[in-house]
Amino acid sequence: MTETLPPCPACSSTYAYPMDALLVCPECGHEWQADATEDNEPEVRDSVGNILRDGDTVTVIKDLRVKGSSSTVKVGTKVRGIRLVAGDHDIDCKIPGIGQMGLKSQFVKKVSE
Ligand SMILES: [Zn+2]
Repeated sequence: MTETLPPCPACSSTYAYPMDALLVCPECGHEWQADATEDNEPEVRDSVGNILRDGDTVTVIKDLRVKGSSSTVKVGTKVRGIRLVAGDHDIDCKIPGIGQMGLKSQFVKKVSE
């Protein structure tokens, strides 16, 4: 029984291989759920197109006014342990010195630590 594995959703490589419950792309390092289809769980991408995942660290790429306060999240602020949520502000996170708030993925950039 041979199963045709889907190409990598990130780079279209056809060399993806299964590892546990995930498929792994040897070319770009992308990992994804084998049974995920494109229309369930939309991918959340940052300002430059990196796919974001729960637990990622991002930096803010522009000053963002915090709703209902006079604080501003400064450009360059590093935010650890983001959580992806559905909605307009698709990142839920805790910002140092400010607290829990929602960010838009288009205003952040993923950091690899
Ligand atoms: Zn790939």
